[in-house]
Amino acid sequence: MAWDFSTEPEFEAKLEWMREFVREEVIPLETVELDWETFGRITAPLKEQVKERGLWASHLPPELGGGGFGQVKLGLMHEILGQCRFAPTVFGNTAPDSGNAELLAIGGSPEQKERWMHPLLRGELRSAFSMTEPGAGADPTMLSTRAVRDGDEYVINGHKWFSSNASIADFLIVMAVTDPDVSPYQGSSMIIVPIDTPGVNVLRDIPVMDHPLSGGLDGGHAEVLYTDVRVPAENLVGKPGDGFRLAQQRLGPGRIHHAMRWLGQSKRAFDMLCERAVSREAFGSTLGEKQMVQDWVATSAAEMQAARLLTLHAAWTMDQVGASNARLEIGMIKYWGAKVLHDVIDRAIQVHGSLGFSGDMPLEQMYRSARAARIYDGPDEVHKSTVAKRILRGYQPVEVPTEHVPTRKEAAQRRFADYLSAATANL
Ligand SMILES: Cc1cc2nc3c(=O)[nH]c(=O)nc-3n(C[C@H](O)[C@H](O)[C@H](O)COP(=O)(O)OP(=O)(O)OC[C@H]3O[C@@H](n4cnc5c(N)ncnc54)[C@H](O)[C@@H]3O)c2cc1C
Repeated sequence: MAWDFSTEPEFEAKLEWMREFVREEVIPLETVELDWETFGRITAPLKEQVKERGLWASHLPPELGGGGFGQVKLGLMHEILGQCRFAPTVFGNTAPDSGNAELLAIGGSPEQKERWMHPLLRGELRSAFSMTEPGAGADPTMLSTRAVRDGDEYVINGHKWFSSNASIADFLIVMAVTDPDVSPYQGSSMIIVPIDTPGVNVLRDIPVMDHPLSGGLDGGHAEVLYTDVRVPAENLVGKPGDGFRLAQQRLGPGRIHHAMRWLGQSKRAFDMLCERAVSREAFGSTLGEKQMVQDWVATSAAEMQAARLLTLHAAWTMDQVGASNARLEIGMIKYWGAKVLHDVIDRAIQVHGSLGFSGDMPLEQMYRSARAARIYDGPDEVHKSTVAKRILRGYQPVEVPTEHVPTRKEAAQRRFADYLSAATANL
């Protein structure tokens, strides 16, 4: 099947509008100190414009107000949103709320959609996804948080950390073991826990190298203790044991969006790299005339193009055959995209010298944030391992011969001798 990432002119016009809107209306917000309230006031009319254009929360299925665009188009949209950390919020696509809304759209009951998903989409509620534990991360089968059915309630006990936004969330979606007697992949479930439920204790926002944004716009990554937390049994999302199936559905498209946002960030860093290269002079020429800087420009351009095509191909594959048949492609974009993002920003910092290291440029914040991309959504090594295992499945072991196998040279000599004897036989 021929790959086709092209989109129709009407959609191209939407992308063009998004590019200009993000450049003119959203990126300038980076230069002002904002608290959550002011940010909400300033962005409210911007969100209205996005809604009028039919671009709000476009990742959702059409029956829930999304665009029904498919992954290739969504990917192209996220490439634009990735340019500015505020853009996803203005477009109703901010993590972890967007992923949680998607999760409830896929697996939530009508009541859960009404009570949690719609207010989330309207920006009236905020949420967190609480899965990782101090003792269980890359390998989620090590999860020890338990949810035990007691009458018409679940009682949850456990210790989570890195629950992004938990300290400002109205509710958490907690991954817990509901049946310890079967494989964790069949025995884990997701449960909605309102933040004010007795026994939920948000201990702290863990200090990290990518600090929460100024003025409390982001909630940071929280450590949360769940002690005898009781919630109604109807707060379970999907059926008991559906946790990993739902997590997979939530993460597949999310990884395409992440990778395209990383490209948006990479492109912004790349533009700064190139602008500096043609502006700054040292040792008698511009930096762009030094071969080492030319190497950064050429290598970054090729790496970004490779990441873009890999990601669009993964998105296209998902559109054709579904997320579960596109695991290889999705795995590749995770580690390749995260590496390209990191390396392009690193080169952009280097070409700016001390200015690049300073807070006068956005690059240092972008760099700190980029470092986490190699860890979250599964560390690079786990994805590499999955990709390699899938590829190697297509190869058979080569049998080691017990007898001497002629070398290429010996085989050639034998062929030549055969040819000579055949040629001389008729003489
Ligand atoms: C910024 C940020 C936000 C996050 N947000 C959330 C959130 O909202 N909710 C949530 O639940 N979690 C969240 N996380 C947690 C994240 O999902 C985990 O950090 C991730 O799954 C890795 O788990 P871990 O940190 O326990 O690392 P570990 O499991 O301890 O792994 C450590 C290292 O071991 C190596 N490794 C692991 N497995 C393999 C393997 N098979 N082969 C080779 N090497 C391997 C890798 O190098 C890996 O980095 C967030 C993390 C970050 C950094």
